[in-house]
Amino acid sequence: MKQISQRLLALVCLALCTFPFFAQDAAVQAVHGIQVSNIDRSVKPGDNFYEYANGEWLKRTEIPPDRAGVNVFSRLDDLSNKRTAELIAEIAKSNPAPGSESRKVADLYNSYMDESAIESKGLSPLKPHLDDIAAIRDKQQLAHALGETLRADVDALNNTNFHTPNLFGLWVAPGFNDSDHYTPFLMQGGLQLPDREYYLSDSEHMKNLRLQYQAHIEAMLKLAGLDDSDARAARILDLEHAIAEKHRSLAENEDIHKANNTWTQADFSARAPGLDWAEYFRGAGLSGVKAFIVWQPEAFTGESALVESTPLVAWKDWMAFHLIDAYAGVLPKSFSDERFAFFGKVLSGVPQQRPRAQRGVFVVDGLLGDIVGKVYAQRYFSPEAKQQAQSMVANLIAAFRKRIDALDWMNPATKAEAKAKLSTLYVGIGYPETWHDYANYEVKPDDIFGNIWRGNLADYQREVARLGKPVDRKEWSMTPQTVNAVNLPLQNALNFPAAILQPPFYDPQAPAAVNYGAIGSVIGHEISHTFDTEGSTFDSKGRLRNWWTPEDLKHFEASTAHLAAQYDTYKPFPDLSVNGKQTLAENIADVAGISAAHDGYKASLAGKPAPEQDDLTADQQFFIAFGQNWGSKEREAALRQQVMTDPHSPAQYRAATVRNIDAWYAAFGVKPGETLYLAPDDRVRIW
Ligand SMILES: [Zn+2]
Repeated sequence: MKQISQRLLALVCLALCTFPFFAQDAAVQAVHGIQVSNIDRSVKPGDNFYEYANGEWLKRTEIPPDRAGVNVFSRLDDLSNKRTAELIAEIAKSNPAPGSESRKVADLYNSYMDESAIESKGLSPLKPHLDDIAAIRDKQQLAHALGETLRADVDALNNTNFHTPNLFGLWVAPGFNDSDHYTPFLMQGGLQLPDREYYLSDSEHMKNLRLQYQAHIEAMLKLAGLDDSDARAARILDLEHAIAEKHRSLAENEDIHKANNTWTQADFSARAPGLDWAEYFRGAGLSGVKAFIVWQPEAFTGESALVESTPLVAWKDWMAFHLIDAYAGVLPKSFSDERFAFFGKVLSGVPQQRPRAQRGVFVVDGLLGDIVGKVYAQRYFSPEAKQQAQSMVANLIAAFRKRIDALDWMNPATKAEAKAKLSTLYVGIGYPETWHDYANYEVKPDDIFGNIWRGNLADYQREVARLGKPVDRKEWSMTPQTVNAVNLPLQNALNFPAAILQPPFYDPQAPAAVNYGAIGSVIGHEISHTFDTEGSTFDSKGRLRNWWTPEDLKHFEASTAHLAAQYDTYKPFPDLSVNGKQTLAENIADVAGISAAHDGYKASLAGKPAPEQDDLTADQQFFIAFGQNWGSKEREAALRQQVMTDPHSPAQYRAATVRNIDAWYAAFGVKPGETLYLAPDDRVRIW
């Protein structure tokens, strides 16, 4: 599913959240510079830089009842969302010509908003699909039906989404071994809860969640008119528990070398017996595809064996429940309320559901995002803004080039390849060069269930149609209206959508120190992914090839192990620590990003003195701007979910990245004995 589930908005590279934000605090920026009123001067910067930079904001900010949390990204999201909503409303009211792209937007949005039509249809849109599941008579038909559920709903490296509730997920991307052509990647799936740990953990918190989840399954089945709902719910949870046992952990999923497993069609039956694979691929429309990259082979072996060993009735119940849950948002209100009561309230701690109009915007953004994005970019991103952002990127790239030259541990051949990666890096600013074509997606005015169904299917078919075709390295993976940024390692490319290139991240009227500290560190973060644990495995053409010598790698692994250990010490809750390994790639990017941004800033001064503002030196402004990127308030359940499932560290620890930067110590006079103080030898320097 694209964008109609709760978790979708979050699964992006830079975002600090695993849950949708969008707060009401719209006044993102009233001044050109850092937010002085957010600083808590009662806190020593060296003791808690996050509290120092954001303390007053934290004290006066309340999380709105329909949010899991609030932060800078969410406030910009609100702005972007408001603008997008206005664009969609304009389009929806304009009675666009039949067959036009605008007509699709209008029909999709209006059909989502027509709650009385949804109520009066009741279960009828769901019924034929439930009947199809009920009619499955044997495991061969089951395999076919499971194949039909395959969607392009996972993305291992760009938007880092490893989760699909379907048995497996498809990701179409440049191949690990042939980066010039689009290749199918298959990934484990089958769980509704966010990760295997939710099924396997012995903690009281998780045991309690599972009880509530089982009650949710039962409630959904009852709403759908299925009998014997308690027995069915128990079977479904048992099956998901068995699937979870076969799954790779999130930390392991991020190990790319363990993921490069090419399986031909014949390999599936030989290496993962149980599921009728020929029938599965027929159902998925992939019979003609010769080979796939299987991300987690042991999970495919395990899940396939479960298809054989688990009774048909359990699989049919599981399919029915997954279908109902996926479409709850476009069924009568009782369904979407029940789904929210569990996934929103219990799992993320959000007391109240977003207004339907906002959810409607997410649906349109998810299924027709580029149509809206085209208009958004024209209206909200000027050529001047684009040009200025491009020059900042050029300064950051120059800073990285110098840092690479200055490394004493990297051998010359490796440095040459690193610089080749910088030279071929495509940096997309604002909006893509080409737009998605939605010609194969039929949108009907009064059929929201079908519109979502066909939208997900059209998206899948568009991806399948690209298999084997030449790769477009300039293709984007985010819409312009997305408040985020992303590194696309297989394309050696970055995307900075228009919606993130605005205050407080970027303000042409703010001092350069502030822009470099805020958006500069974000740009640096993304560029550095080109070289980190992930980037060191892809060369300048996006091929999976480790371009480092063993000595380079040894130094890198030693430094990064040091950083992982630093983050392992952080404990947001007494019973839960940050996982230094799970968050390593993102933490490295944070250290590198702020280092290069500081260099880029110094270079931009071209020898001129750095101006003070608000009684703060330029370097103080630079670091505070960085710290204020991470001002964030989350509900406990949501923060726990983030710590367990997100490759990014919680915001407060991202702000603490500064303790690895020498210039930060000088800027604030940080001394031994202060909490964040690290002796010079303990500061992690990677790039
Ligand atoms: Zn990142």
